[in-house]
Amino acid sequence: MKLQDYLDLEERYGAHNYKPLDVVLHRGEGVWVWDVDGNRYLDCLSAYSAVNQGHCHPRIVKAMVEQASLLTLTSRAFRNDQLGLFYEELCTLTHSHKVLPMNSGAEAVETAIKTVRKWGYQVRSIPEDQAEIIVCQNNFHGRTIAIVGFSTDPGSRNGFGPFAPGFKIVPFGDAEAFEEAIGPNTVGFLVEPIQGEAGVIIPPAGYLRKVREICTRRGITLILDEIQTGLGRTGKLLAEEHEGIEADLTLVGKALSGGLYPVSAVLSNTEVMSVLQPGEHGSTFGGNPLACAVARAALKVLVEENMIENAAAMGSYFLERLREIRHPMIREIRGKGLLIAVELLPEAGGARRYCQRLKDRGLLCKETHDNTIRFAPPLVIDRNVIDWAIERIAGVFEESGDGHGK
Ligand SMILES: *Cc1c(COP(=O)(O)O)cnc(C)c1O
Repeated sequence: MKLQDYLDLEERYGAHNYKPLDVVLHRGEGVWVWDVDGNRYLDCLSAYSAVNQGHCHPRIVKAMVEQASLLTLTSRAFRNDQLGLFYEELCTLTHSHKVLPMNSGAEAVETAIKTVRKWGYQVRSIPEDQAEIIVCQNNFHGRTIAIVGFSTDPGSRNGFGPFAPGFKIVPFGDAEAFEEAIGPNTVGFLVEPIQGEAGVIIPPAGYLRKVREICTRRGITLILDEIQTGLGRTGKLLAEEHEGIEADLTLVGKALSGGLYPVSAVLSNTEVMSVLQPGEHGSTFGGNPLACAVARAALKVLVEENMIENAAAMGSYFLERLREIRHPMIREIRGKGLLIAVELLPEAGGARRYCQRLKDRGLLCKETHDNTIRFAPPLVIDRNVIDWAIERIAGVFEESGDGHGK
């Protein structure tokens, strides 16, 4: 089959809810992927940070294959011998008391919403059906009806109502605005430590510390969505560590499986998670032995192979090298660890064109919103590969003209 044949099949039979770059991938290893014609590319998206450990990491693949031939699914009607070990290892690593395992990130978000609402009614004695959760402008928490109902992105939301009530939206990065929005029925604040899909928006230093203090003082739960920022991406295991705080609920997903399988989890303290009783929440696949075995290996690899430290060191190096590229169309270069963005001026004509040209030079990136290119390679990247990438990125900016040697 030729490239065009693959594109035609997808076009003809698939729902058109994505607009991918026209590269058809066939194989991956570490930071590299290969298309059906054997061309090699550097993956600078890592499946939105699900592949932090690198493509097809051999230790995770081995754990998956071994478990797949033993036992894959029991449902939670019965117990399995991987679940408790997964709980213990994840809790020890993240200093959590309790875990609730799900599959996708959106399910972890939904689970957190249900849990803090129940906590509000039971512990805070909020009147029935009045619980309120505060979220941020430009948030991204997934695609379910409840979640898109509190999105401020028209593309995510328009045409899908009616939506669930009980959410209030405040500006991101503004702790005072958050505190002012708290009412008698507020039970939680759901926020990303860095807004990934909004374009790698980093809040002012001290924001999360202030938010933590406000939540504690006002008796509401802090729910950090670390589905994208967690598990090493920003140079710490969890991004909350940059501010030395702990959330009441932390949501992880994506890289929890190293990209081999959908695994997500809600990490919690005992007080909040204890409100859930048998039968009140669940998932057929959540906590299945295959997911647990894969996640256990993915976490082990992340820690034992020093990927978190590497993300911090290589993130700084990548940023430093990107900042050497001077171009009048670059508005800002920012990042934390290996979650990096180059924001272009609107006059640049959109980031998509740059992603296309980078693809032609062997670098796969995705624009976030119209004018931002995100660079988020697997955490196993090294200096030589970053140098290789910088040559190509600089080349694309040079070729796009308007340089004037500035
Ligand atoms: C990707 C993502 C989600 C949703 O995860 P899915 O597995 O796609 O449902 C939620 N929150 C954040 C911050 C994300 O980046």
